[in-house]
Amino acid sequence: MSHIMAQRIKVRGVIQGVGFRPFVHRLAERQGLRGWVRNEGSHVEIWVEGSTEQIEAFIRGLNEKHPPAAQIREIYTKVYPVQGYDDFVILESKEESGDIFISPDLALCPECLQEFHSTQDRRFHYPFINCTNCGPRYTIIRQVPYDRGNTTMAQFAMCQECSKEYHDIKSRRYHAQPNACPQCGPRLELVDGEGKACSQDFNQLLARGFIIAVKGLGGFHLVCDAKNQQAVNALRQRKGRGAKPFALMARDLEAVKKYAYISKEEEELLQSPQTPIVLLEQIFPSSLPPALNPGLNTLGIMLPYTPLHHLLFTEDLDILVMTSANFSHEPIVYTNEEALQRLKSIADYFLLHNRPIYHRCDDSITAVVKKHTQIFRRARGYVPLPVKIPPLARKVLALGGDLKNTFCLAAGDKAFLSQHMGDMDNLEAQLEFQKTLSHLQSYFHIAPEIVAHDLHHGYATTQFAQGLNLPLRGVQHHEAHLTSCLVDNEYAEEVLGLVCDGTGYGHDGNLWGFEFFQGTLGQYKRLAHLAYVPLIGGDKTVERPDRMALLYLLKEWGQEGAKWAEKLLDFAPSEIALYQSLLQGTQRIPLTSSCGRLFDAVSALTGVCRRNSYEGQAAMELESLCISGVKETYSFAILQEGPVKILSLREMWPELIDDIRKKGDRGFIAGKFHRTLQEMITQVFVLLREETNLTTVALSGGVMQNKVLLSGLITELERKAFKVLIHRQVPPNDGGISLGQAVIAGR
Ligand SMILES: [Zn+2]
Ligand SMILES: [Zn+2]
Ligand SMILES: [Zn+2]
Repeated sequence: MSHIMAQRIKVRGVIQGVGFRPFVHRLAERQGLRGWVRNEGSHVEIWVEGSTEQIEAFIRGLNEKHPPAAQIREIYTKVYPVQGYDDFVILESKEESGDIFISPDLALCPECLQEFHSTQDRRFHYPFINCTNCGPRYTIIRQVPYDRGNTTMAQFAMCQECSKEYHDIKSRRYHAQPNACPQCGPRLELVDGEGKACSQDFNQLLARGFIIAVKGLGGFHLVCDAKNQQAVNALRQRKGRGAKPFALMARDLEAVKKYAYISKEEEELLQSPQTPIVLLEQIFPSSLPPALNPGLNTLGIMLPYTPLHHLLFTEDLDILVMTSANFSHEPIVYTNEEALQRLKSIADYFLLHNRPIYHRCDDSITAVVKKHTQIFRRARGYVPLPVKIPPLARKVLALGGDLKNTFCLAAGDKAFLSQHMGDMDNLEAQLEFQKTLSHLQSYFHIAPEIVAHDLHHGYATTQFAQGLNLPLRGVQHHEAHLTSCLVDNEYAEEVLGLVCDGTGYGHDGNLWGFEFFQGTLGQYKRLAHLAYVPLIGGDKTVERPDRMALLYLLKEWGQEGAKWAEKLLDFAPSEIALYQSLLQGTQRIPLTSSCGRLFDAVSALTGVCRRNSYEGQAAMELESLCISGVKETYSFAILQEGPVKILSLREMWPELIDDIRKKGDRGFIAGKFHRTLQEMITQVFVLLREETNLTTVALSGGVMQNKVLLSGLITELERKAFKVLIHRQVPPNDGGISLGQAVIAGR
C-alpha cells in the first residue's frame, strides 16, 4: 500500500444543478477515497484522502466521466496534511459567493426517455419527466442559488416517492430540482379557442390540420402538421407572416433524414443537449409544401427536447411546424393568460400546462459550415453560460444593436450574453430587455461601471444607454463584430479582419458594411471597403432590393443604367427620373458600403427577390439558387484611394445584365456572383498581407451566415496559406456585437 496523502481540489465550471456532487460522491467511493465535497457557489471544493494512484484516477474521472450537462473549466489541486477522515460525505453548501454559473435548459436525456416510453414506469408518458442530467433550468429559475424553492417548481410539493428520489444520493434524481411525477407535478391541459377544457386527442387534431399553441420550455410554439399544405398556409396567413421560413421539429433522426441531408456533425448537433434548430439542406423532390420555406433550399429542423414534444408525434405525424408564438418582432408569448388572449386569432386549440416559465427563451438556430458549428441565434441550451474573454479592467454592460438584440454583462474574464431578445423597435421587446437585464444583473452580481452602445444615434439601445446615468462608450458596429470574432477564438494578436454585414454606422457618418480592418480587440485601422453607393430612403431601403439595384445602376452607369433599370426592374421612367434628380441634387444622401445591400441589388436585378418581407430574404434566396462548381467571375477592380483600398464592382453590372439576357440561368449567375466576391476578397487579403505581413484573417458580420460564401472563402483563403478565424460560440450577426462592445469598452 502506497503512501496516504490528502488533496484539496477546486473545480470551476458548470457544476450546479447538473448532478455534479452526487457524481463526485460516487466517484470517490468507487476509488475508495475518504473526505468530502461541498458546493461553494462559484465552485465545488473536494477534499480527498487516499493513495496517489487513487487520487490520480479520481481526478481523471472528474475530467472524463462527469455528467453530460456539466462543463469543467478549471481544476486546481493542492496537497495538505492528512486529517484522517473515515468516509466520504456531501457537506452542506456554504452561502453562495463569487461568480456563479447557471445551467442552460437541457434536452430530455436517454435514460428519462426510456422511462417515458416504458409502460411499467410510474412516469410512463408523463410530459414533465426529468432528472439531474436533463430538464428545465434557466427558464424556471427565479433566484440563485438554484434550489427548488427558487424555481417555478416551488408551488409543487413533492410526493413521498419523488422526495425519496430527491434525497437519495444513489438516485438519478438526487437534488434534481424540477423532479416531479403524475401524482405531484405539473399537468397538461388541452383547451379550445374559448379557453374551455376539451377531451379531444391532440394528435388527431394535428392530423386533421388544426393549429395548436403549445406551451414549451421557454415560451409557446404554434404547431401544425408540416406536411399539410392547407394548415401551413393558414398559419402563414393568420400569423401575417410574409415568406419567412418556419422552424420544424422532426419526430426523430430517421424522420429528419426523409426531408434533409445530414452530415455526421449535423447529426451530433441535432442530438446534443442543446438541441438547437439546425439549418439543413433540403432533399428534392420533397413531400413538404413549398410554403414552409419559399424560395429556399434549406430547412430549419430540431428534434424533440421536452417529453411533451415526444407526445405530439405519431407514426404518420413525423414532422411538425414549430414556430415561436409571437407577433412580428415582439418577444415570444410565455404565459397561459397571454396565449389565450393574444393567440386566439391564430391557434384553434391550446395545449397548456401549469409549470410557469420565468425566463422566455427562444430556440437557438445553428448551422454546420465545413464541420464547424455556427450559432445564428444564441438562446435556449446555450444561455446563460458565459463566454471566456480577455480580463477586463471594468465591469461593463454592453447593449448590443437594435436588430437580433442580445446584451452582455461582463466582468473579469467572463461575459454573460443574454438570450436572443429580438428587435428593439417595439415596446414589448424593450420591456423584456429591461426585465431580463435586471434578473441577470442580480444573478451574476455585476454592477456595471461603464455602458457600451452602438454609434448609431437612432438606435433604441443607444437611447436607453443615454438614460442610464453611467459613463458611456460608443463602439463602431463592425469593430464590435470583428472583436466578437477574435474573442470567440480567444485570439488577441493583430489580424486582418473582414466584416460583411447589413448596415452599421461608420466613423465617417456613412453606413458601412463591407469593411477590411487591421488590428486587434478594438484598436483598428480601416484598410479597405466596398465602393460607396448613395442610400436613398435610408433604413427603409432594407425592404427594397429593387431600389438598391436601381441606385447601383444609376450611380455606376448614369443614363445607361437608367435604361437597364427600366427594362429589368419595372421602374416607370418618371420614377427613375425622380431618383436621378435626387442623386444630382444638393441634399446630402448617406452613402453605404453594405454587403447586404449589394446582395439585395444583385438579387433584385436577377429577378430573384425584389422586396424583402424579412431580413436577409433577397440574399438567402440568391444563395439558395447557387449552382456549385462555377469557376467564372465577374470583373472587379481594387483601387487605391490614399491609404484605403476601394473595391469596385462597376464593371460587373453590364456583364451580369448580359448574362441575364443570354443565359438566363439564375443559378449560374448566383454562383458566379458568389465566386466573384470570394475572388475579390481573397485578392484584397493577399495585397494586405504583402503590406502588413499579417497572415491571420478573421471573418464576421451577418453576411457570414451565407454558407456558400463562407465555405468558399475558407477554402480559398486556406489555399493561399491564411489562418482563418470564424465564429464559434456567438453569432456572426448582430446577436454577437454586444460581446465585442463589452470587450472594447471594458479594457
Ligand atoms: Zn433525464
Ligand atoms: Zn411525485
Ligand atoms: Zn451588424
